Amino acid sequence: MAQLTLKQADVSYEEKERLFTQVTQDIRFHDYLKGCYECGICVAACPSARFYDFSPRKITQAVAREDIELVYKQMNEDVWNCSQCFSCDRCPRGNSPGGIITILREVAVKNGLRTAKAALEGYGRVVYKIMSTGTQVSPDMLQPDAFPDWGPEVRDVSENLDLWRRALPPETLHTTELAWDIEEKTLTELYLIWHLTGVLDMIKEIDEGLHMILQDVMEEALEEKGYHLS
Ligand code: SF4
Ligand code: SF4
Repeated sequence: MAQLTLKQADVSYEEKERLFTQVTQDIRFHDYLKGCYECGICVAACPSARFYDFSPRKITQAVAREDIELVYKQMNEDVWNCSQCFSCDRCPRGNSPGGIITILREVAVKNGLRTAKAALEGYGRVVYKIMSTGTQVSPDMLQPDAFPDWGPEVRDVSENLDLWRRALPPETLHTTELAWDIEEKTLTELYLIWHLTGVLDMIKEIDEGLHMILQDVMEEALEEKGYHLS
């Protein structure tokens, strides 16, 4: 953390201000921040606040006060402790602290901040799975060595995965490589959305290798459907 603090001190105030301006210019910003009563309801509702030195109230107030230095610090540290559950949306002032954190994270990723790359480093497999299949973490990723923190039962589940999946009532879930069967039309729409909204470009800022793989997968599929994007 001492190294991180040193690096942050190396960043000019103008650069921090530029990043803050990107946050406030986000189209969602004024919907997510109206003011703050300092009531702490968001903290009481926040699961991450129970386990980490983390406070959605402090982040909301730093942004509302336009505390450029503190917001930059939070953008590099605190925001990655949020689980994006949006329990804090019960804010009586009408704020969405989780939404503000989403914007802060996106600005951190779009600008390739080193801390954003470090925070997302372990999620390459998950991002690949979600963005290439259009679903989410799939049953075949439940392997003991992949997620050691998921406990000893993972081994039993992974050994009988096919059987467990066939026991599920909806037919779309009888699959182990995907979370559920997804229609080609839906996947095409998702690929187009990720291309056109710049989500794929954001991946490039944090992991160029992953970006290349995803781009190949998506472009090939989209070209088959008659879309030529590059
Ligand atoms: S719940 Fe809303 S008003 Fe209360 S501290 Fe959190 S952000 Fe501020
Ligand atoms: S979205 Fe983030 S800040 Fe809000 S309650 Fe969930 S973990 Fe806490």
